[in-house]
Amino acid sequence: MTEDFPNNEVEFDRRFHSEEACLDYLLQLRWPEGFRCSRCGHDGYWMSSRGLYLCRHCEHQHSVTAGTIFHGTRKPLTHWFKAMWWFSTRKNGVNATALQALLGFRSYQTAWCWLQKLRTCTVFPDRTKLSGSVEVDECFFGGAHSGKRGRGAGHKCKVAIAVERKGRKLGRLRMQVIECCSADELTSFIKTNITAGSQITTDGWGAYSGLQGEGYSHKAIVQSKTADKESVLPGIHLVTSLAKRVMLGTFQGRFDSQYLQRYLDEYVFRFNRRNCRAVGKRFWRIMQQAAQSVPVPLKNLVLEPIT
Ligand SMILES: [Zn+2]
Repeated sequence: MTEDFPNNEVEFDRRFHSEEACLDYLLQLRWPEGFRCSRCGHDGYWMSSRGLYLCRHCEHQHSVTAGTIFHGTRKPLTHWFKAMWWFSTRKNGVNATALQALLGFRSYQTAWCWLQKLRTCTVFPDRTKLSGSVEVDECFFGGAHSGKRGRGAGHKCKVAIAVERKGRKLGRLRMQVIECCSADELTSFIKTNITAGSQITTDGWGAYSGLQGEGYSHKAIVQSKTADKESVLPGIHLVTSLAKRVMLGTFQGRFDSQYLQRYLDEYVFRFNRRNCRAVGKRFWRIMQQAAQSVPVPLKNLVLEPIT
């Protein structure tokens, strides 16, 4: 697919000033080979006043927003595009209060829902697994700052983390909320996210002892009582402290644990593109995802609390 995105905010504003311009962009992302009628295969269309694409041959109606995160929205697409531009191009994204103010929404809830939908677009099914030298560990998120215990905002979540080491530098990152730190769960996380044959470094936790048998080369660093995490797994130590700092800044440390995976997904998306200078490309990748049908029904957007 040809990469087509605005390079900066001036270009963005010039290009996406109308509903038609936004619809055309979505059309191009949804049908990269050009429009083709799903009923008769004809490639000619005209756009109705309601933003539907009608086949010139059989008049079958096609909606580029059906089944996507824009499905049934009452707000203009220009607003959505602007929200996605801010979300994808700002260093630390945008929180619901800021988005509400930027778009002039009366409702905080609307801005909050939009951000939840955008976060679902930050994981790409075609992403390649981590490889080479990779550090893996588990850590806790949440709970520490709220003072609450047990359910809700104070709930502490376990998160599995994997980060590539490229000499002294860090490569790509993956983060996954896990139930417990069992061998089954950690092995499954590793197999989903790391290419077989990679060199994995962990601490001495027994759950990692079977990695050799799974086709990985495994080095376990048994931590002495005096050594801190920083010297054992420096990459992991760095990304967790960065991620916690960002979450502290964005959510003042308070977030509902059932949404943690989405916040982590957003963080990983940003982290893995931290050196990408073409900010518009991040917007394009998010848009590509947004233009696809959503695998989970949007009514499931609000999740049940983790108990
Ligand atoms: Zn047709």
